[in-house]
Amino acid sequence: MVSDAKSHYADHKIKWSQEENLVLLNFDNQHFHWEMPSDYQISEQHEDLFKIAEFCLLSPFVGGILEGWKPSRKHGKYPALSFSGGIDSTAAFALMPKDTVLIHHRRDFSSLLVHDGADRLFKHNEEEFGRTVHSIPSNHEKLRVLFNRPTGFSTDLAAAVHIILLADYFDLKGVALGMPLDNTYLWHGHKFRNFDETHWWKSWSPLMTSIGLDLILPVAGISEAATVMIVKQMRLGSIVSSCLRKAHPGCGQCWKCFHKNGILGHPYDIKSKEIQTFLGRRPVRTATHALWWVKQQNHWDEVPDLIHLKELDFSWWTQYYPPAFNLLPDWIRSGVQEAIESSIDPMPEDSPFLSWNLFPD
Ligand SMILES: [Zn+2]
Repeated sequence: MVSDAKSHYADHKIKWSQEENLVLLNFDNQHFHWEMPSDYQISEQHEDLFKIAEFCLLSPFVGGILEGWKPSRKHGKYPALSFSGGIDSTAAFALMPKDTVLIHHRRDFSSLLVHDGADRLFKHNEEEFGRTVHSIPSNHEKLRVLFNRPTGFSTDLAAAVHIILLADYFDLKGVALGMPLDNTYLWHGHKFRNFDETHWWKSWSPLMTSIGLDLILPVAGISEAATVMIVKQMRLGSIVSSCLRKAHPGCGQCWKCFHKNGILGHPYDIKSKEIQTFLGRRPVRTATHALWWVKQQNHWDEVPDLIHLKELDFSWWTQYYPPAFNLLPDWIRSGVQEAIESSIDPMPEDSPFLSWNLFPD
């Protein structure tokens, strides 16, 4: 089954089942799995959870998934965090309440990606803070390959499918994602937008709330630079690594090593092929953050055609955007807000952020 056009839900064979502790999604006779806790019972999970899991995994390719469906699951008790172990989700972990259930998606097929960085952090969290991270092995990132796409998450919420499937098991009422300002209030990382007016927010947020799982974006109002500051304040700077290629302190060659691990003081090679490639793109990849770091490190020699941006005021990049607090559900807002307010400064009302556009052409 290989096609670029959207097909209809009714034309597919889609079935969920369980074998021991493996939850299986049978999609047109291709099987995708999640390795759940040993006492997990598929029969005890609300059917809405499987419906939304299907939507997260298949909606870019299959239409009509939600036709005729009426959600009925009620909110549970606890928030959860989709904890990748990278810097942004570690900052989210720092900001979320102590009863947050920490759940990690573990790609369980061999690829360039390694889990060493996450495992190092999770072990530290257990020893230092007594906080367990539940790691759920899965191969669902291979589903996209059926649709001629590279391995990966089908949608942003596919990164939380394991949590959705565990929502009744852990009695959850919300799912937090470590999605920073670079992906919320910045369009393609370089132009200001009103995130609360985007199709993304207006569709995903009510959809998740409709199954009793509020979407929580604790770092939506702070940048990738500010998430690093929070991680450092937790004294996790020497523990965490966003590099997915090599164990701590990272490979030093990839984009994450340049623009995330670099801020933590981990070494990187500015002349590496990947870093040069992304710096050479126009717009630069993850532009605001990358150019903020170029400015911090005086790497302007690497982007000579952008030297005019050197005079721009990037100071807001390490401040928080107060309207982002309005995205938080009422039941969690005050705690997250206080944690951010006590860590970083607010953007002033006349911040250059509000008219930010690095590449107007
Ligand atoms: Zn790396």
